[in-house]
Amino acid sequence: MQNQPLLISTLIAFADRHHGDAEIVSRRVEGDIHRTTYRQVAARARQVANALDGLGLAFSDRVATLAWNGYRHLELYFGVSGSGRVLHTINPRLHPDQIAWITQHAEDRVLCFDATFLPLVQAVHARCPTVQHWVMLCDADKLPADTGIPGLLSFEAWIGAASSSYDWPVFDENTASSMCYTSGTTGDPKAALYSHRSTTLHAYAAALPDAMDISARDAVLPVVPMFHVNAWGIPYSAALTGCKLVFPGPAMDGKSIYELIESEKVTFAAGVPTVWQMLLGHMQPGGLRFSSLQRTVIGGSACPPAMVNAFQNTYGVEVLHAWGMTEISPLGTLCSLKNKHLLLSKDEQMAIRLKQGRAVYGVDMQIVDGDGQPLPHDGVAAGDLLVKGPWIVADYYKSQAPSPLVDGWFPTGDVATIDADGYLQITDRSKDVIKSGGEWISSIAVENIAVAHPAVAMAACIGIKHPKWDERPIVVVVKKPGAELTAAELLQFYEGKTAKWQIPDDVVFVDAIPLGATGKMQKMRLREQLKDYRLPGTS
Ligand code: ADP
Repeated sequence: MQNQPLLISTLIAFADRHHGDAEIVSRRVEGDIHRTTYRQVAARARQVANALDGLGLAFSDRVATLAWNGYRHLELYFGVSGSGRVLHTINPRLHPDQIAWITQHAEDRVLCFDATFLPLVQAVHARCPTVQHWVMLCDADKLPADTGIPGLLSFEAWIGAASSSYDWPVFDENTASSMCYTSGTTGDPKAALYSHRSTTLHAYAAALPDAMDISARDAVLPVVPMFHVNAWGIPYSAALTGCKLVFPGPAMDGKSIYELIESEKVTFAAGVPTVWQMLLGHMQPGGLRFSSLQRTVIGGSACPPAMVNAFQNTYGVEVLHAWGMTEISPLGTLCSLKNKHLLLSKDEQMAIRLKQGRAVYGVDMQIVDGDGQPLPHDGVAAGDLLVKGPWIVADYYKSQAPSPLVDGWFPTGDVATIDADGYLQITDRSKDVIKSGGEWISSIAVENIAVAHPAVAMAACIGIKHPKWDERPIVVVVKKPGAELTAAELLQFYEGKTAKWQIPDDVVFVDAIPLGATGKMQKMRLREQLKDYRLPGTS
């Protein structure tokens, strides 16, 4: 067989050749809707490559982005990686100190940013000594004067001066293509460095019918940001399949997302539960319905049963619950039914859909006990989840620490069960699990019951020190606007839904739960906020 390296440039070259007129629609920072095609994106990605040559960037040099989901970001995805440089997508929601730190750690040489992030860049640029070129993703006439950022370029002027004629270089498929830092809830952020091979294989796997099932007939809306694990790989799978792409830009509120789904006839959308909560919150009061949406992949944190139920049963949208992480590119498992499940009742099918799903080809997984001994796949035994495969990190980029691998397996930090059919269920992150009287209580299970209550908008379960039981769970709750609910009523709601000893000892109502850079609840900060809290009856 021919030895053709798996390179990211081949994805965009393929889309250009076979799906050149398929549409890419973006809501821009400017507020308008912009339309382009794979053919134009491919041409402009080649201009990006030439423009990087023009700046004297070497092979493997890092090019950073602080940008929303949009066509210019897509052009950078292919232009930067395709020409052999490394695309470093920075999460703009990180603390400015962390952003300055990671640009230095990554040794970024160019940083491209959306206009939204101009104040952020103005605040940090002096602390990013490796960055030599700053590019604002805007037209030449939109470039503000006197920004204080030395040599600031406009993207359009910069690539506009470059030729669109460029031959994508051919090199080893194991070359680094892109990188993403984890949110770093503990210590400094750590980077996963993806390769052309890992990204291309992941793009194949993600598009499969039992994964995201993306085809040329779809209109795909990645609400999950391109600055967070490459929008779950969707930009690459999109080019591989030639689907229509719809980008939300900065507008991720329920109303804007709903309007985009309807106006662009989106068939498939991907996002984290907190974003979908806003979408459903917008739709429910007015009785709005979807006219085109068929499937949604929900992941990044546990999808509450109430949400799966709303999408499946109220809106007729198939939910694919998915589990993954930055270190694994990110797809690990997705939840779709098997042939034998089609005969089951709706309730029995729902019980399966609530799990995080089956491994896609390329991801091997096992669960182990505290001594590293493998546990049975019986859907009951819960242990530390280990994974391995060609798109899972072997080590962190430039890490001083020893490789995280244990006998070749990557420890995910998640606690899970796996059933006899191979369906994974995450019961907790190992640091969030509540240890009560020698037994483990899943914080996710406690939260899922709370958010099923109609008055609850968001719930976080954390463990509180207890003199007898070591720890006991409490649930911290944000009520829906205008809703009435007492602690006693919510505790009553738990009766009969879980074992008595797993019912939280108390309910604490708050105005907001702190969310991290990727929209996940930050339990560490919550524990910090509640450090003076004492359980009823303890001192
Ligand atoms: P960070 O670790 O910085 O928050 P990641 O996005 O890589 O960034 O987070 C991965 C973690 O998110 C997983 O290890 C797991 O704990 C959690 N997670 C992801 N998807 C799910 C899911 N469907 N259900 C429960 N937890 C999930």
